[in-house]
Amino acid sequence: MIKEIKVSTSARSQFIDITEQVSRELSSSGIKEGVCMVYIPHTTAAVTINENADPSVMEDVKNYLDKQVPWSDSAYGHAEGNSAAHIKSSMLGSAAEIIVSGGKLKLGTWQGIYFCEFDGPRSRRVWIKLIQD
Ligand code: ZN
Repeated sequence: MIKEIKVSTSARSQFIDITEQVSRELSSSGIKEGVCMVYIPHTTAAVTINENADPSVMEDVKNYLDKQVPWSDSAYGHAEGNSAAHIKSSMLGSAAEIIVSGGKLKLGTWQGIYFCEFDGPRSRRVWIKLIQD
């Protein structure tokens, strides 16, 4: 069974902490031990796990990516005009796997799961696959 959560973004580049939503899906599944896969079915978005204690960390990641992969560049050929978003999507990746233990996501103390928007604002989907062991 695949669960789906919806995310609304409000900026071209934006990182949204989805840890609570993913945890809720895990809780409602009743699964205690296994693996949680978070999958992003979009080509201009991504998922990453990083610090959710100091908000400036994800702000720095976002700003650094924007600096390294500018929105406009003479090297881009993609007619839609959003090559930067596709490149950043591939850099961060479409999936994250989290161990499930004791009915909870086994994340490190400072870790959170982030939906990464690179071509917003948009309505986005996140797929969650829970595998029981
Ligand atoms: Zn495109």
